[in-house]
Parts: sequence; structure tokens; C-alpha cells
Amino acid sequence: MKNKEDHFILFSTCIPVKGYVSSLIMDLDKGEYLEIPNELYDILVTDHFKYTIEEVKSLFNNDYDEGINQYFQYLVNNHYGFYTSNPSPFQKLPLHFDSPHKVISSIVVINKDSKYDLTNVFQQLDALDCQLLQIRIYDKIEVARVIETLKVLSKSSIRIIELYLPAFLKLSHEVLKNILVDFPRILITVYGAEKSKKVSVLKNSSRIIKYTNQKLLYSSKEVYSKNLFTVSREMFLESVNYNAGLYRKVCIDHEGSIKNYVSHETAYGNIKDNLIADIIQKEEFKEKYYLKNDLIEKCKDCQFRYMCLSNSDIEKKGKNYYKINTCTYNPYKNTWEPSVNI
Ligand code: SF4
Repeated sequence: MKNKEDHFILFSTCIPVKGYVSSLIMDLDKGEYLEIPNELYDILVTDHFKYTIEEVKSLFNNDYDEGINQYFQYLVNNHYGFYTSNPSPFQKLPLHFDSPHKVISSIVVINKDSKYDLTNVFQQLDALDCQLLQIRIYDKIEVARVIETLKVLSKSSIRIIELYLPAFLKLSHEVLKNILVDFPRILITVYGAEKSKKVSVLKNSSRIIKYTNQKLLYSSKEVYSKNLFTVSREMFLESVNYNAGLYRKVCIDHEGSIKNYVSHETAYGNIKDNLIADIIQKEEFKEKYYLKNDLIEKCKDCQFRYMCLSNSDIEKKGKNYYKINTCTYNPYKNTWEPSVNI
């Protein structure tokens, strides 16, 4: 119940984000968001620590008094905010983001023509404190050789190793189970399967083998969908400060080229001639770390920009930056359009 002198305060992890025609509140604790009109966004970002609800109403010429009452009550009822007579102890979420890891994530691609030293790549990534390693295997290659190589990471600090295997290798459950047993940090996805399913092969364990009927192509385009958005504190803070898809990511393609992302055209060196540590220090390699959605045309007007993870390459035309593989969302109409790139 609110009193005349009360302030309305959003919880610090409930973040209003404005889009061109529609806005939303990201709830970083619950991992969900609420779509709101832009008018309410403007009201929510006034200084509620300074102004009482009655003062906020008069800042908007008392045009929205009833709407403010109803929306604030709705937000209180749904645990986005609260009323208080003393807002001073409450604070906004600090927006700082940093990571102690020189490499946060990496993708390593292996096919039948790959001639680079895999053991050396894994050792270099481990030395750079990589946290998430994704290994994509294409073609009919000797998987046992790759698995043997992974032993070099048995004492590494890599948190998760994702292994993508093509279904046409026809590896048995027994073989896959042995990989899970030998490497407790490995997650296995078999792509190009007939049916998508999850198979549990270990007793008393939640670890599964994931089969997906999706294909994994060298030229796989970015997939954008509301279902793929990530609402979390880490994602939000990273996106506010950096390009969340490319920040501290380094990828090695099937030829050993060192890139920001495997499908990008630009390579900054090759693993046969260069050290990953040297490449990721180069200013031109790091440039894309800083091209966050707030700086990219269309994305900067999109209310989903702090939950949308994209590895797309970015090009500069004149003074403006654009994603090369963009989505079909049109923030100027608030519609998803089947095949329109703006
Ligand atoms: S790619 Fe850009 S415009 Fe599309 S959903 Fe993501 S942030 Fe929005």
C-alpha cells in the first residue's frame, strides 16, 4: 500500500531498456522480461530516488496520473519494484563488467584437411585461461585422435568443453559414454541426426548426449529468435560494455586461421605461424570487442540489445557500424519480418 510521500523504486536487477517504438524491463534475477510502452519507460527512468510518486506525476504534467498508479501497482504486484518512503539505502546496479580470463570462449574447427597441431592449440587456450571451449568436428576424421589430444586438458581450468560431432560418424552410445566418463567437463552434441532427442547414458548422472537434427555448416548463419535471447546479469553487463558475442573470443578455423569468429572472413594470423596470445593483443583483433549493440545501426534502436547474443561480423560504412548477418526484427515497427534485412 503506498502513501502520499512514497517513492516507487524498481529492484536494481530490473532494468528498463528503450527501443524505437517499444520498451521492456529485463528481470536479471528471474531471467525474463516484460514488454512495456515507451511512455512508461520514460516515467521509469526519471530519478525516483529524488522524486516521490506525486512529484513524478507532476513532472509529466499530471497527464498520466491514473496510468502511473496502475502501472506501478502492477509492477509491485509482479515483483519488479516496490514503494518506499526512504529510497536512500537502495542503489542502482553497478554497470562495471570485467573478466579475469584472457579468453572467455573459443571455437576450434577440425576437418579432414586440418594440419595444425591440436595439442598445441589446446595448451595455448588453457594457458590463456579459456573458460568455454567448443570443438566442432566436420568430415569423417579419426575422432579417437581428437579425444586422445584432449587428455592434455585433464588438469586445465577450462570449465566446459562442448564437442560437436556429425551424426554420419555413427559413433555408438558406448563410445560416446566412454568420452563422458573419461572427460567430466565434456558436453556432447551430435548434429545432423534424424531426430532431436536427449539420451541419458550414465547411471545416476544428469549428463546426457544431445542429438539435434540441425546441421552445422561452415557457413552457418546467425540464428536470431526471441527464444534464443538470454536474460541474465552476466549477459546484461557484458552487453552494456562490450560485444557479448565477440568479447574475448578467439576461434581457430579448419585451416588454423585465427579469427574473432569461425565464419568471419578476416583472419589475423595462423596457428602454424603465430601464438594466440600475440594475436589477441593486436588492436585490430580487439576492435570488435568494443562494438557493442549500442553502437551498431538498428541494434542500437532495439529493446532486445542486451539479451541478444550475436557473433556476426561487423562492417563500417561511413561513420556507422552494421552487422553483416543481421536479424529479421524491425525495431522501427516492432515486428519480426520473415526475410527482410534493414
Ligand atoms: S540483431 Fe540487433 S536488431 Fe536484431 S534482435 Fe539482436 S539486437 Fe535486436
